[in-house]
Amino acid sequence: MLDPKLLTKFEGQKTPLYYYDLDLLSQTLKAAKTEADRYGYHLHYAFKANCTPEVLRTIHSFGLGADCVSGNEVKCAIENGFDSKHVVFAGVGKSDEEIIYALEKKIFSFNCESMQELEVINELAGKLNKTATIALRLNPNVDAYTHKYITTGLEENKFGINAHEIDAVLLLLKRLPNLRLSGLHFHIGSQITDLVPFKKLCSKVNEFIQLFEQKGIHFSHINVGGGLGINYKEPDTQAIPDFAAYFCIFSELLELRKGQELHFELGRALVGNCGSLISRVLYIKEGINTNFAILDAGMTELIRPALYQAYHKIENLSAGNVDPMQRYDVVGPVCESSDCFGKAVSLPETKRGDLIAIRSTGAYGEVMASGYNLREKAKAVF
Ligand SMILES: *Cc1c(COP(=O)(O)O)cnc(C)c1O
Repeated sequence: MLDPKLLTKFEGQKTPLYYYDLDLLSQTLKAAKTEADRYGYHLHYAFKANCTPEVLRTIHSFGLGADCVSGNEVKCAIENGFDSKHVVFAGVGKSDEEIIYALEKKIFSFNCESMQELEVINELAGKLNKTATIALRLNPNVDAYTHKYITTGLEENKFGINAHEIDAVLLLLKRLPNLRLSGLHFHIGSQITDLVPFKKLCSKVNEFIQLFEQKGIHFSHINVGGGLGINYKEPDTQAIPDFAAYFCIFSELLELRKGQELHFELGRALVGNCGSLISRVLYIKEGINTNFAILDAGMTELIRPALYQAYHKIENLSAGNVDPMQRYDVVGPVCESSDCFGKAVSLPETKRGDLIAIRSTGAYGEVMASGYNLREKAKAVF
């Protein structure tokens, strides 16, 4: 349960609002950094998970690099003090304008996802008289066993270059003088809580390193992406993911060559559990088989339940412990039936005006907000 002392902090505020626990964020970053440092691994923060300036400031203070998937994220990283030398830029649809901006800023690596993209970056780099440092994002065909919308490492997904294209890519690269191939990149999906997919990834990466070596190509860095999941069910007892176990897998299974750097791009695992969406109950409405608790927050503030059938723990901060438990469908005000945060949620008797916390919303929450129904943007408190 979110600390009830926070109630006084929220009472006078306009809801819905995002609450971020920056102490927990720091503890999480410290844990991740300590474990990564053990092996000399390079950590990048996946900006798309959360771009709130205070959150970014905390992350920057721990010396992480930036993993970006749009030109504006690259810009946001640089404006928030991240060194462009530690910025990586992935995405299947980089526009010319975005590529030019990143070239001008001399980012660490374009993580390239298709043959045509390689040609375009080469051409734009040529016009600017620059050399682009690139990594090939390969599709390792590893199933992440996560929701189908957040699986990215299967051949049927749009991401990355498939293994059968490698020879054609290498042939193409010979004709592209403005690209410097320096790494391999992978990212198999998100909210991965079973570590087996990461083990499978390691053996695939080993195979790829060897395959390229046989063709005379050596990489200065390998980037294995992100995807480590968080515990949505128990955000208090397991607030911080098991970074030790995660990094240990790579150190044990990955066969890095001498001097080869290993890079990670973590998003959710770093910021997910430090955020909560705070909302007020507008109405209690009796349904046929259930009661509805209608909140002033909806899918416009947090779309994950509607988009991925995601689970978020829901708590009533105002109700006393002694109130009898009841079941509610906790829904938002937006005109969509999918605007529902949880069905048959067990809560103490809930009334109009109660404050509700929707937990573990630090990642892919505020950044995915929309103005649908002309809704206002929720503000953030810390
Ligand atoms: C989204 C994304 C990440 C971060 O994923 P998490 O599951 O939040 O760790 C890392 N790398 C790339 C390329 C991504 O698109």
